[in-house]
Amino acid sequence: MHKLINFNKTYISGNELEYIYRAVKSGKLSGNGEFTKLCHKYFEEKFDFRKVLLTTSCTDALEMCAMLCRISPGDEVIVPSYTFVSTALAFARQGANIIFWDSREDHPGVDEDLLESLITQRTKVIVPVHYAGVSCNMDIIMKVSKKYNLIVVEDAAQAIDSYYNGQPLGGIGHLSAFSFHDTKNIIAGEGGLLVINDSKFLSRAEIIWEKGTDRAKYFRGEVDKYTWVDTGSSFLASEITAAFLYGQLENLERIQKRRVQIWDKYYNALKSLQMDGFLKLPFIPKYATNNGHMFYVICNSANDRTALMKKLKKCNVLAVFHYSSLHLSPFGKNYASGDKLIQNSEIYANRLLRLPLYYEMKDCDIDRVTNCLFQHYRN
Ligand SMILES: *Cc1c(COP(=O)(O)O)cnc(C)c1O
Repeated sequence: MHKLINFNKTYISGNELEYIYRAVKSGKLSGNGEFTKLCHKYFEEKFDFRKVLLTTSCTDALEMCAMLCRISPGDEVIVPSYTFVSTALAFARQGANIIFWDSREDHPGVDEDLLESLITQRTKVIVPVHYAGVSCNMDIIMKVSKKYNLIVVEDAAQAIDSYYNGQPLGGIGHLSAFSFHDTKNIIAGEGGLLVINDSKFLSRAEIIWEKGTDRAKYFRGEVDKYTWVDTGSSFLASEITAAFLYGQLENLERIQKRRVQIWDKYYNALKSLQMDGFLKLPFIPKYATNNGHMFYVICNSANDRTALMKKLKKCNVLAVFHYSSLHLSPFGKNYASGDKLIQNSEIYANRLLRLPLYYEMKDCDIDRVTNCLFQHYRN
């Protein structure tokens, strides 16, 4: 029996452990220290983001967005049905009414052409998700947001170093959030980043990040003591997290390159199965780049997905499906958007299957996975 090919594997790329040691030795392990500042500088310089704040998770960064948008009960927030819980939850817990947005027919990302039909007098925020690191059509989304004076929060959890017509994702909406969870391209175990592109959010973002205090102003010498001035929480990440993350960021290019290579190898190997109608492969629109975050196939039916998963398990390969449609979830049902059909999201919930993809995956591992798919479809 071949050894198990896991779905994901934590990768230590270089200096992560040494940097953690250095952080511990420095005598300051709480947030906003040397490594946090190095991470901030990295993002602000490499992607030209206006201002960033390292957080303990992407969920936290999204919660900060909901606070920054001053969501109050009854405000409507438009969120994909096919996404991770946090995209909706962060706004729901501030009292928002969640309006679910369907996926495209050719891609699990949101259907931009539906957006305008979801807007009402009460709409306040639009939250596009760049699924699999593949950009939404941001021209359409930004144009609609301008027309109705709405805030755009990009959920860029999966979208590090990916681009829309050359613009880095996370740098287009008014606010955005990245994740460094273990399953993402660049990791810190748990970790996230808030990006503030619209300067009107800058000063409150610092306050919300630091438990509702004006501590940042105090450190800059702008006030002579710090105090409680607004809402907030303890959103900043520890220096242990920042140190690990900085070690990863130093190797971002190498990590991304290999992930895209693996992705391409899957795509080329499985093309003929798509041509013969056995399954569908990911679609990348012309305006979007591929950052190698995820490789998935879309089966022709839910039954076939179950059968394929079983087959892969027999080959000792761990493949996993992804989201259940949020509008059908026990909590999401509280927000069910009337009789509006959300069909595509359900198709991806029932038929999408993600194949293993991690930095240390060898070419022979990829061959084992694709051969198993060939056995399943061609006997
Ligand atoms: C991973 C992910 C999140 C949550 O990230 P955490 O850092 O685990 O909080 C949110 N949205 C999307 C689309 C994700 O993929």
